[in-house]
Amino acid sequence: MGEDLERKLDRITTKRIDEPRFKIKDKDLIETVEEVFDKYTLESLYEIMRKLRLLRMFGVVNSGKEARIYRAIDKEGKEYAVKIYLTFTSEFKKGIWKYIMGDPRFENAKITSTKKLMYLWARKEYKNLERMFRAGVRVPKPYGVHNNIVVMEFIGKEGVRAPLLKEYMPDVDEGRIFFEKIIDYVKKMVCKSRLVHADLSEYNVMIFDNEPIIIDVAQAVTLDHPNALDFLSKDINNIHRFFSKEVGLEIPSQEELKGEIIKCL
Ligand code: ATP
Ligand code: MN
Repeated sequence: MGEDLERKLDRITTKRIDEPRFKIKDKDLIETVEEVFDKYTLESLYEIMRKLRLLRMFGVVNSGKEARIYRAIDKEGKEYAVKIYLTFTSEFKKGIWKYIMGDPRFENAKITSTKKLMYLWARKEYKNLERMFRAGVRVPKPYGVHNNIVVMEFIGKEGVRAPLLKEYMPDVDEGRIFFEKIIDYVKKMVCKSRLVHADLSEYNVMIFDNEPIIIDVAQAVTLDHPNALDFLSKDINNIHRFFSKEVGLEIPSQEELKGEIIKCL
């Protein structure tokens, strides 16, 4: 841990987060930098920070279309990624139904508002992370979920996130190692956790310590979803295209890869 951070931590008392209630405006807890959260999100954030004993949240690491990722630390200085779902456009809402319906874990959920849908989506991401993590797939370790917030392992260090596979651009030697690991993870996802990622590509794999790490799993569906195998073909197609066309690897055909992956079914 850097000296600077240590000094900072010294200044911040941890007593406050052990208290059952927070004052809503607490500059020590959340360094949001012109960030505006609605009341529910702010309350949810304090609740999960207290539960997981997070000391402080820093500014945004990355803004996706629906969610933002923030970095937080606990009192040992260990880093966490805090993913907060903030906006669901009507187009997005329409698009995600196909990943919810047909998934027996969620098909009976009562969705009465956008907020409820966000909570379901966050819980789905957390559950998927948990199942994949237990199956030995290298994903960010999940720590907790509360309403529209998922807390997981921070992929990166000292405040800097790791690059995406797309940004990292391996050479052929390293590319082959990454390719084989990713295919092994897809196999574990299918055979052990019985899930299909359904949005796998070079944009949802991070490279940290020379290891590929699969992220962004909210849309992953169970194998009994009627489109599970179509989603799997799409995932394989993306991975195949990236490693054959962009990295320049000689790899088996998509059909061979798919056959190899679903052998266990
Ligand atoms: P997008 O629509 O851009 O795909 P998303 O809302 O689906 O975004 P993610 O893909 O999960 O969200 O995360 C967005 C970005 O945040 C990632 O591309 C990555 O750069 C960063 N990120 C995600 N998870 C982590 C993590 N655990 N640790 C560090 N950075 C992360
Ligand atoms: Mn993504």
